[in-house]
Amino acid sequence: MNTHFSFQGFDTVDLAKKYGTPLYVVSEDLIREKCRAVHESFLDLYPNTEAVYASKAFLTKAMCKIIESEGLGLDVVSGGELFIAKEADFPMGKVIFHGNNKSLEELEMAIDYGVGRIVVDFEEEVNLIEYLAKAKEKRVNCLFRITPAIEGKTHKYIMTGQKDSKFGIPLELDSLKALVESTLKSPWITLLGFHFHIGSQLFENHIYDGAIQTIGRLAKELKMDQGMELQELNVGGGFGIQYRGDEKTKSISFFTELIMESVTKVFGGFELPVPKIIIEPGRWIVGEAGITLYTIGAIKKIPGIRTYASIDGGFPDNPRPALYGAKYDALIANKVLEEKVDVATIAGKCCESGDILIWDLEVPTLDSGDILAVKNTGAYNYSMASHYNKIPKPGVLLLSAKEANIIVKRENYRDLIQNEEMPGHLK
Ligand SMILES: *Cc1c(COP(=O)(O)O)cnc(C)c1O
Repeated sequence: MNTHFSFQGFDTVDLAKKYGTPLYVVSEDLIREKCRAVHESFLDLYPNTEAVYASKAFLTKAMCKIIESEGLGLDVVSGGELFIAKEADFPMGKVIFHGNNKSLEELEMAIDYGVGRIVVDFEEEVNLIEYLAKAKEKRVNCLFRITPAIEGKTHKYIMTGQKDSKFGIPLELDSLKALVESTLKSPWITLLGFHFHIGSQLFENHIYDGAIQTIGRLAKELKMDQGMELQELNVGGGFGIQYRGDEKTKSISFFTELIMESVTKVFGGFELPVPKIIIEPGRWIVGEAGITLYTIGAIKKIPGIRTYASIDGGFPDNPRPALYGAKYDALIANKVLEEKVDVATIAGKCCESGDILIWDLEVPTLDSGDILAVKNTGAYNYSMASHYNKIPKPGVLLLSAKEANIIVKRENYRDLIQNEEMPGHLK
């Protein structure tokens, strides 16, 4: 019997040996399964819908290719993300460009590339887009991001829809109406509709109701006052997945059914046509498709207090536990059949007491050299990695049906100084 943890048919202990640790491992099949569920439970079920993958969760050129081949669009939030999409030849018409402080250069890049939509996050941004679009004689499709004043039940660092937020245009009816009115007159901007994003790692589906109601009411007012036809409503992402101690991951239909029901009811109630509905899942697509492999080194037993097992990574490759107390589940990949007789706290190798990856994990008897496999690290791990303590970033291995391919090389020490320059007087 195999005593090793197998992920998508690959022996993870072998992977650790062959590619070294720490190592991000991502399954192409699991990503595609999620994309297909989005088709089956949402896109194929309701006419006039669209799904875009929120690329900030995990973005590489190979990921762009997978998303493109699954027929989803891409949501980007910076010039860097946009550049990677372009380098992967992602169809620009299917790109949505977000950001609460897009620079003039980033906006220019988005317009030059011909992105499908730019999501306006603050009033003056309309003027910037207008100015650039006019100069380039290119019409630009926009959505307005509205702060719906809804609080998602999630950590406050990943809550975005509350009134006191750095994101979106506040729902002050008079100023919003004036902005819509002037935008509708612009020969260079097509205002297609609105966007909101309540937050991330949500498990409630009714949370979208209030925001949809708010937008419906707004659409009615704008229709009556300005004759605006709302063509699109982008309801953002935020669909949660199961980490340690969380509820089980919900199906996409758990969210989309209620969203569609709510949209139909609200817009029907206001006697308005139902706009195109766009969703932007990030974590839900890729979170469960990834694991991270580490090697356990120092094991410190403090009698009567705690056992610390230190790994060869931590905060630099996964800052989420330190950032907002995110909880992960893990197992000892080379000892899956052994009884869990101990409890250990998994510590990262950074010089920060807060660099604890997992508190009080049940484990078999640990030995230095054991391989730790942390589950559900596909989202917001690689994309949030840093060089703190000058630890090179791990590589990313993509597991496909029959083969494994490195899609991001492990960094080496040279990579750490590649952008450094020495002033003459210090040479
Ligand atoms: C982060 C973000 C998403 C995706 O959030 P997930 O929780 O990963 O689904 C979608 N839309 C916008 C605007 C975002 O900022």
